[in-house]
Order: sequence, then structure tokens, then C-alpha cells
Amino acid sequence: MRVLFADCDLFDGVSDEIRRGMHVLVADGRIAEVSDRAIRATADRVIAAKGRTLMPGLIDAHVHITAATPNLAELESMPVSYVSHWTARLMGQMLERGFTMVRDVGGADAGHRRAQEEGLIRGPRLSVSGKALGQTGGHTDFRGTARTDPGDMQRRFTPGLGRVVDGVPACLMAARDELRLGADFVKIMANGGVATPADPIDWIQFTPEEIRAIVAVAEASCTYVAAHTYTARAIEHAATNGVRTLEHCNLIDDRVAGILRERGCYAVPTLIVYDCLDRHADAIGLAPANREKNRKVREAGLASLEIMARAGVRMGYGTDLLGGMHREQLGEFALRARVLPAVEVLKSATSVNAEILRRPDLGRVAEGMTADLILVDGDPVADISVLSGQGERIALVMQGGRVVKG
Ligand SMILES: [Zn+2]
Repeated sequence: MRVLFADCDLFDGVSDEIRRGMHVLVADGRIAEVSDRAIRATADRVIAAKGRTLMPGLIDAHVHITAATPNLAELESMPVSYVSHWTARLMGQMLERGFTMVRDVGGADAGHRRAQEEGLIRGPRLSVSGKALGQTGGHTDFRGTARTDPGDMQRRFTPGLGRVVDGVPACLMAARDELRLGADFVKIMANGGVATPADPIDWIQFTPEEIRAIVAVAEASCTYVAAHTYTARAIEHAATNGVRTLEHCNLIDDRVAGILRERGCYAVPTLIVYDCLDRHADAIGLAPANREKNRKVREAGLASLEIMARAGVRMGYGTDLLGGMHREQLGEFALRARVLPAVEVLKSATSVNAEILRRPDLGRVAEGMTADLILVDGDPVADISVLSGQGERIALVMQGGRVVKG
């Protein structure tokens, strides 16, 4: 199958400028030619794309596709079969919104990845962590402060997002176990969380020895560790013990941003989720203590982007939405564009996220790359709102050279 995009504007994922009047040929799933002159080759389909911008398919580096409800304690007792169907529908909606690949940082497993690869599910490509690892009383422990039943409760076999592990041997075993089950990387919780009952934001989680043990397992298996962190203290704790991608980072400071830059770590902010939790706190039934935690991280969010941009930290695009809030997956674009140049936000969701996911064949429009592309009505650098809603202004989505929308 050969598809020719004729006379399009082009955002290639890395350049600051949009190039006008470009021609792009896709053949056998790859980008075969990019030219500023008309391409003569025969094609099965020619798409006249004048006035539209061709760009790399969007990548979201922080999702939970199995989070069928924002109540993560309740999620653990939902039937796996129900959650699977909910997830399949969500993945289709993500594709409509222009996301051709996502990284699931707690919940999705090799089965989801395989179902997508085999075409059983229509949706973005997946990079998965399996269950996130967290300590007793940490951000994977949803028991609350009144329950006294034992911690792990076979969580591996529920649709919950994480499992509880304590101590170096248990951490080694759990990381190895998730990799055995097909995880692409390991996710840990290294800081208090908004949605959990017993862990203030100021608390850091796991000891340095536990984090280093998990990092050693990941690196031995040629992969890396991603960590949930908000505060400067937690980010430093995770990064200096070997974590590669720092999720959220709302309460980072200049000094710790410098450490991330020096170590070549990536940050994956997820501002839209705190905005959503704030707006929908009543509907979700967020407890007062959790609202207060959310307020803290939400207010610091935009400032954290400026701190990291100033320090030169590589920032990916993430959302971290749960349940019905997923409808706002594109909302992170406009939110970040309040303080960052739109083109930088576009790079985050394309070429930077491809680096984070270790997919050198994705995130750019260049000859030889895998043809994951979207065609948008208008110029996203001049008007970021072309990426909003449910992808109404995304005219076409292509995945591996196949048109999957439009
Ligand atoms: Zn998350």
C-alpha cells in the first residue's frame, strides 16, 4: 500500500518551523520519501492535503488504560473481563484523538500489547510496565487507614494498577516477575500520591537500597525504571538511585532540575489530571485530604514546566487520566502552551516521547521512519487548539502505513 500526501504543511517532530508545500510518500508501512517537490511515484491513494499539517502520530508517555474508574481502590475489585472491554473502547478513542502509541505506567500488561499488535483491539501501540511497584502504605496501597488486612492480597491477579512490595529481596523478585510477564520497563512509586489514603505528598517511598535493587534488575534486562514523584526531595531520591524517567515532577526546584539535566533523565509532567480532579472533585467523590493534596500539586504545575525548561530538562508529554476523565487527553496541549512555546509541547508529544519509549523509528517524519502520522486541519504551532476535544480537527490517523481514521 502506497499513500501520497500531496502539498501538505509539515511538522517533522524536531524542527521549530513548519515547512509549507511538502510531499510525503508512504510505502510498505514506512516513510519512503519527503520532498519539497511533487513526487512522481505511483500511489494507491493520493491525499490532497493543502492547508493541513502532516505530523508524527501523537505519543502519550503516561497513561493507565485499565483505569476504568478514578476510584483506584474500587478498581481492584472490578471483574477483569469488564475492565478488558472498558480498556478496548478507551484505546479506540485514543486513536481517534491522534495517539498512535502510549506508554502505560501501571495496569496494562503484555496481553494488552499483544491484543493490539494482533489487531484484536483497535488502539495505540503499547509500551507497558505491568503492575507498578510500591511499598506498604505507599501509592499502590489503597487499603486506607482503617483496614488491617494484609498488604498484597494477590493484587497481581486483580485489575488494580499496582502491587505492594517491601525489602530488597521482594523488590528484586517483583521487578523480575513483571519483566518475566512481559513488561517493557519497571514502574515504581517513590513519593506520596494524590489518590491514595495513607501517604502525604511530603513522604518519599522505598529506601535507596530498594530503588537501586529494582534499577539493577531493569538494567540487567536492558530496560529502565520510571518513578512516580512530585517533590524535589523525591525526584532527587529516585534520580540519584538510577531512575531514568521521573513522572509528574510538579514540586521540582532549580537545583534538582539541574540534577535531572546532568544525569540525562527525562521528566514526564501530567498537568491535565490535576486540573480535571479539581474540576470534577465532587463528581468523583474525592475525599477532603485528597483534594488538599491535589491543590498542592496542581498549583505548582505550570511553574514546574518553567523550572525544567530553564534547566534544559527533556520533557515528555503525559496525562495520567483516570476513568471518564480520559476525554481530556488532548487538554494537556493547551494547558502547557500557557507557559511553553507550542512547538516545544508538540516535540514533547512526538520526538521526545519516542526517545523516552526507546522507539527511534517513531516520533519524526523522515525517510525510513515507521509511518505513524496524523493530518490536522490547520497549523498546530500557530493554533494549538487544533489538538483538542476528541480529535475533531484530526482529519486522518495513520498507523504503520495503514489509515485507521479518515
Ligand atoms: Zn500515573
